[in-house]
Amino acid sequence: MPLRYLFIDMNSFFASVEQQDDKTLRGRPVAVIPTRAETTSCIAASYEAKAFGVKTGTPVWEARKLCPRIVFVEADHKRYVVMHNRIVEAVGSCLPVERVVSIDEMVCKLIGDERAPEKAEAIGRRIKTAIYGRAGDYMRCSIGVGPNEVLAKMAADMKKPDGLTVLADADLPENLHRLKLTDFPGVGRRMERRLNLYGIFTAHQLCAAPAKTLGAVWGSRMIGEKWYRLIRGEDVPGKPGRRQTVSHSHVLPPELRTEPGAFGILVRLTHKAAARMRKIGYWAGAVGVSVRYKDDEVTTPDPVGWGRTSWGAGCRFPHCEDTPGILREVSNLWRRRPPGGVPFKVGMVLTDLRPARSATPSLFPEERQDADLSRAMDAVNREFGASVVYFGSMYGMRDQAPNRIAFTQIPDFDRQVS
Ligand SMILES: [Mg+2]
Repeated sequence: MPLRYLFIDMNSFFASVEQQDDKTLRGRPVAVIPTRAETTSCIAASYEAKAFGVKTGTPVWEARKLCPRIVFVEADHKRYVVMHNRIVEAVGSCLPVERVVSIDEMVCKLIGDERAPEKAEAIGRRIKTAIYGRAGDYMRCSIGVGPNEVLAKMAADMKKPDGLTVLADADLPENLHRLKLTDFPGVGRRMERRLNLYGIFTAHQLCAAPAKTLGAVWGSRMIGEKWYRLIRGEDVPGKPGRRQTVSHSHVLPPELRTEPGAFGILVRLTHKAAARMRKIGYWAGAVGVSVRYKDDEVTTPDPVGWGRTSWGAGCRFPHCEDTPGILREVSNLWRRRPPGGVPFKVGMVLTDLRPARSATPSLFPEERQDADLSRAMDAVNREFGASVVYFGSMYGMRDQAPNRIAFTQIPDFDRQVS
């Protein structure tokens, strides 16, 4: 298979920016924290800190225990974005950037003779040099080259820091076989257990498994087939094994076919979808909302009876997992809706999902608070039933849905949308 993709992943990005900008931090264990508080968690750790077991998500008190000499630095989002832009520029001077995946990851396509292994490797080296030149010599990255985007990313993960791995046909099986099952993107602990149930305990067994078995493991023939082909280096569009969306929709009961009623239900659906998304371990990067209208004027009956006219809108935002953040976007979208019409059904969908373990926690304390609050709420609701706690008064809901009927009907409602 030709080497079609080159994936760049900056090493310990936020911590490296700090070490780049402050020479006194170089060679020392550094952790970047969102705010000076013992209860907060590290959002990045330098390689020197990682050697002590400190990683993204390690609470400050624990990091201090693991590594007493650790230096904590408060995150500075603006400088990280400036550095990100320099890196995109540096990469772009060697190869067009196909897609920026996140603040510290991007992917490029290789064409023509760039696909020859030695050429691809030379380009990888050129990119590293360009990044050092434009962003600084402390800005190391791991680069992976592979026949598809997934394998290129996996190649980048194979050597950290400062790796450059080319997964050419000849070394592909050997390189894949020594991985852990959880090194495959989309394979978390839960999926690993499922693989085990089907007799797959090693990467070698995963690579040898028939498409049919993979389909059974993933519960979808299509995803199984995709994995089967990806492992073999085919350029399959889309990322397999990843959940694509979390969505909810609801037909409004007659008394809620009003502006505030519809919005109330939409808030409730958002609340539910966000909780479900957190439960299955994803963050969202986009949301869509839709309304179907009851259309009495239409003389020809619609096959489904109601709701011939509809409206919908969507938007992107920095990946997040918290209910308030998502509600904010939903409310903004809702405000764009043209007035008029009797809402009959509302729906919303969370898309551009990425696994929580590969998401970067927010740099902003308020947003992290929202995420913590959302998780605390999930815990209470798990314990006492689905709707004990909810964001009843959020974002103007108090004014916009004064009757609160949406919330008094929850038991019935939950059964219907589950
Ligand atoms: Mg990285």
